Amino acid sequence: MDLYTLSGIREILARHGFKFSKSLGQNFLADENICVKIAESAALDKDFGVLEIGAGIGALTYSLSRAAARVCAVEIDRALTPVLAETVGDMDNVKIVFADILKTDISALVETEFSGLRRAVCANLPYYITSPVLAKLIECNKFEIITVMLQKEVAERLCALPGSPDYGAFSVFIQYYTNPEIQFTVPSSCFVPQPKVDSAVIRMTVRESPPVNVKSENLFFKVVRASFAQRRKLLANGLYSAFNRDLDKKMISTLLENLGFPENVRGETLDLTGFSRIANGIYDILQSK
Ligand code: SAM
Repeated sequence: MDLYTLSGIREILARHGFKFSKSLGQNFLADENICVKIAESAALDKDFGVLEIGAGIGALTYSLSRAAARVCAVEIDRALTPVLAETVGDMDNVKIVFADILKTDISALVETEFSGLRRAVCANLPYYITSPVLAKLIECNKFEIITVMLQKEVAERLCALPGSPDYGAFSVFIQYYTNPEIQFTVPSSCFVPQPKVDSAVIRMTVRESPPVNVKSENLFFKVVRASFAQRRKLLANGLYSAFNRDLDKKMISTLLENLGFPENVRGETLDLTGFSRIANGIYDILQSK
């Protein structure tokens, strides 16, 4: 069985009558070294249970099963059932669950599958669900490390710093909950079929506590969203649009001035500390009303 060459992959898929689905983001890895490198960069060992999203034909699943104590792979496409039975069916530390990850109760799944183990995620993500899956994985608060391959530009956005055109509300979300680091890039030639863009592997180490002191996370992220909602506008205008029920323009400009921000400050220049100071300032005003 050859999981890692074009001819080997085509042969096994043809034998089971499998047709690629573009809409499910099916670009399968066809490079053994990359699979091993992804599993290595996930910093796994035999104390870990690892959740994979999208097993495909099992190329990465196989490398993960060697690196971790257990692998549970959630795969939406039941047409892959006979393929996966052949490629990873006899590995006793691998379980394939046929389900949509967006509709899966991830907390319940990992409690059942990884009892007594440390928990991580490692996956070559289907591109069309990158943001909702990452948000779900982080919000369930069950994982120590999340290592995923995604489009290179998206990986750069997640790690982007203030002032960069790539910096946005999702960069702040990821950096608030995790420490993201790009591990390496992967050319599109390593996949079958080849996607149009290159990919990158990013490892997000989930923080034990947030890097900044925030009085209300809801309010903090409301401020972040407001700051990026109208990218070219001044921060004061973005805040006014989001909070005009409770704050007038004068209150916002006074708050910014008291915190030492110039009146023409733009949201995209603020780091996590800047956002937290503004959000905490708004929190105090709302509490005092
Ligand atoms: N891990 C394999 C590899 O590296 O070759 C496959 C990766 S491929 C980019 C993404 C996989 O995710 C596909 O097998 C696809 O069927 C599966 N998938 C797509 N949407 C999904 C969803 N909502 N839930 C679970 N799996 C999904």
